[in-house]
Amino acid sequence: MAVATEREYLLFINGEPTESSGGELKELTEPATGEPLARAAMATEADVDRAVEAAQAALAGDWGKTPGPERSRLLHALADALMANRKELCELEARNVGKAISSVKAEFFSAVENFRFYASAIASIAGRANPVGGSLLYYSLKEPVGVAGQIVPWNYPMMMATWKLSPALAAGCSVVLKPDEATPLTALRMAELAAEVGFPPGTINVVPGPGKPTGSHLVQHPGVDKIAFTGSTATGAEIMKSAADGIKRLTLELGGKSPNLVFADADLGSAIPSSVWSIYYSAGQSCEARSRVLVEQSIYDDFVTRFSEAAGRLRVGDPLDPETQVGSLISTNHRDRVHGFVETGREEGAEVVQGGEPQDGKGAFYPPTVLAGVETSMKVAQEEIFGPVVTISPFEDEKDAIKQANAVRYGLMATVWTGDPGRGHRLARRIKAGTVGINMPYTAFPGIPFGGYKQSGFGRELGLDTLDDYLETKSVIVSTSPKPINPFQL
Ligand code: NAD
Repeated sequence: MAVATEREYLLFINGEPTESSGGELKELTEPATGEPLARAAMATEADVDRAVEAAQAALAGDWGKTPGPERSRLLHALADALMANRKELCELEARNVGKAISSVKAEFFSAVENFRFYASAIASIAGRANPVGGSLLYYSLKEPVGVAGQIVPWNYPMMMATWKLSPALAAGCSVVLKPDEATPLTALRMAELAAEVGFPPGTINVVPGPGKPTGSHLVQHPGVDKIAFTGSTATGAEIMKSAADGIKRLTLELGGKSPNLVFADADLGSAIPSSVWSIYYSAGQSCEARSRVLVEQSIYDDFVTRFSEAAGRLRVGDPLDPETQVGSLISTNHRDRVHGFVETGREEGAEVVQGGEPQDGKGAFYPPTVLAGVETSMKVAQEEIFGPVVTISPFEDEKDAIKQANAVRYGLMATVWTGDPGRGHRLARRIKAGTVGINMPYTAFPGIPFGGYKQSGFGRELGLDTLDDYLETKSVIVSTSPKPINPFQL
């Protein structure tokens, strides 16, 4: 193995690996085997305090004085370092999350591109200058918002860390990043590499730990100016409340229950395999998983049969086998939760056409599962299952398709399969989702804004505009008049 197993991973504070003040080392196991993987230090509230202090000191010191072109060079250098260490990072991620290495590699290359995109985007950070009228001149400055507290979940730990770090660093913020307590390894390794390529101490701090107290303490910390959160809608709502006290800048990337609409005029040769990919990629543990397939009534039965056959052919197994398409779930607890939803679906009257029984063994595997005959009102059609479980429901016509697509509290992503270009564009306008794909299943690209409508959150990641979430606009107004200014005529 290229990965140093049994290694101890410490917190990363002020440019160096740091022991937890509580001394806790959490045993991490590989979800796919149940075997020990590594031990990782967990941050206490006191550690979060130290990390925030280091981040503030970086802003007051070297990092705060680092000009845009140099920040750009550092981001490129970090991208190069990630590439040079890609084998280790990808294997570490696959073993820590249980995700198929083929998926991790695809995510890795996209993740690295985020650093390159924002390295270039730095050139777009600029204020404006306007004459106000008379002798007044106005110009604006764009300044980093300060210390960014960033919280990411376990399903894409490496990619989510790059989504968060790259715009923040481009804007000149310093960061305290809290990975999920189960999946901290690649973020910690990334911080080490960032220090090696020359990011000043305190610029990037990584403090893995539980949501409470580590994450909640970070959100409430008076030294943190902005919170960027990715995770569940329930936690997002809690964070929104506690961020209110300090009037923290806030962006939330939350859950989803995204629809995949297939019309009878679609090219089913693309629509079926792509729809299978759109739910089972990452074993369905994706915020934008198209977990609700809506199919025009006239092709419904044929679609369910062909989709289920294709799902049954997916290669589920060892995440490190390059042929594997679907790895394990994050834990056996999560697998049991997913299975609980399938049981609920059965009780609600859905038909389990494919999968539906957990696999034996120590690994947290669950087979690609298809629930057919699902109605919008059912729990399995409304709640995020976050596993390899799809619901397939029929619709009558375009109006009914839109109604069903929008009939959930989420609005992250939607995909439309149709042979009618006009219909594709009509639906893109009428479906409430942050991203709509027409005849293609892919979701996230560096440079293309990604985020939610409704309870999928607010704010956009990956786009040029994302920089604004990490910048303040300061207005400077200057008198150019030689005459004295004396408004009260004193
Ligand atoms: P979660 O909300 O339980 O945890 C996410 C992160 O928040 C973890 O680091 C956790 O430790 C931390 N956390 C938990 N409680 C906290 C609190 N009170 N204060 C501060 N931090 C806290 O979510 P999860 O189950 O780990 O992740 C899966 C969820 O994330 C799904 O709902 C999924 O849709 C969502 N997600 C969204 C996106 C997106 O871009 N919209 C991307 C990936 C995942």
